[in-house]
Amino acid sequence: MTIESKFPGVGTTIFTIMSQMANDHGAINLSQGFPDFSPPVELLEMCEKYLRGGYNQYPPMSGVPYLREQIALKLERLYQTELDPDSNITITSGATESLFVAIQSVVRPGDEVIVFDPAYDSYEPAVTMAGGQTIHVPMAAPNFHIDFDRLGEAINIRTRLIIVNSPHNPCGSIISAADLEKLASMTRQHDLYILSDEVYEHMVYDGAIHHSLLTNEELRNRSFVVSSFGKTYHATGWKVAYCAAPVALTAEFRKIHQFVTFTTHTPTQWALAEYMEQTPDHYLQLPAFYQAKRDLFNSAMTGSGFNLTPSAGTYFQLADYSDLSDQDDVAFSSFLTQQVGVAAIPISVFRKEPTSDRLVRFCFAKEDETIIKAAALLCSEKVEQAK
Ligand code: PMP
Ligand code: GLN
Repeated sequence: MTIESKFPGVGTTIFTIMSQMANDHGAINLSQGFPDFSPPVELLEMCEKYLRGGYNQYPPMSGVPYLREQIALKLERLYQTELDPDSNITITSGATESLFVAIQSVVRPGDEVIVFDPAYDSYEPAVTMAGGQTIHVPMAAPNFHIDFDRLGEAINIRTRLIIVNSPHNPCGSIISAADLEKLASMTRQHDLYILSDEVYEHMVYDGAIHHSLLTNEELRNRSFVVSSFGKTYHATGWKVAYCAAPVALTAEFRKIHQFVTFTTHTPTQWALAEYMEQTPDHYLQLPAFYQAKRDLFNSAMTGSGFNLTPSAGTYFQLADYSDLSDQDDVAFSSFLTQQVGVAAIPISVFRKEPTSDRLVRFCFAKEDETIIKAAALLCSEKVEQAK
């Protein structure tokens, strides 16, 4: 049987392809972003306690109140914003669901949605499903900052939504307080919303701070802000996340969320709430924890032939391989996986317009031993064969 695809241009995600290739070739998997270590043991114990303690039926559609309260407290502490757990915060099954539902909430057929390339892969298909058109505004290496002139040219009467992502996957760049001001002033006169993907909010380095859209009142009043417990608690497979948004946006968001998943795994929500209450230090220490891993990877790569500009945020490190090979990044990532034994992610797949960049992404959310082994392979003579 054949069916006419709604998405003829969409294939399997690059994360699935590269992880599968890593498995097939026994390569160290620095491609798809996930830690090779476990969530905190106390959090696992709490999860077990709630699983065994009878917390196994549907929670409220908007999420377990205890968890929404803990999120509101955290957001107040970090971003000086007062949010009502009942009308501003919704728990979803992963940030992927939050992004999808937020997009369906506001995008209508004919609307335009601006994304900044390289853009995370789930945005455009969700826009297409809502009947919208994705407008790609490129960001340039090596800094990958928003080009506000290009943004200004892209905004028009059809623009319904702008999707921002900081810390940025795959580039590791972060937006500044000045960027938020510019975004606020450029969107002031327009009838549009903002979707801010902040899943790496606790991974910023070198003393920088994360500038959440929640810190800017004007932006906050027109934004969906999304974060994921998968990243913060080393549990990407749990798929628990949240969306913070103004009352009217949250109401529309929940109308859709209730028919996408209705709700999210109960005992995990209880465990996360209790762990957040008892251990706020966990996320406060994440920048130092991951910065040490970034620095270990970067120093172990010295002399490799790759050029690395230390990542400002996320648990990803870009590496420029133009001194090593002329291959395109898809071919080079396959070569690294199959011949060198380290899997990476090519960057061009997140762009609409081609560039001459020669960049791949490595995930350093790994045990130190894994990082050292992978870097040793990337420094070895095997890489020379790519010439
Ligand atoms: N946004 C970005 C930028 C991501 O890297 C990810 C990664 N996994 C997601 C959203 C989705 O998060 P989740 O796994 O919670 O669905
Ligand atoms: N966000 C993860 C990454 O960037 C992958 C998530 C996925 O596999 N869909 O690697």
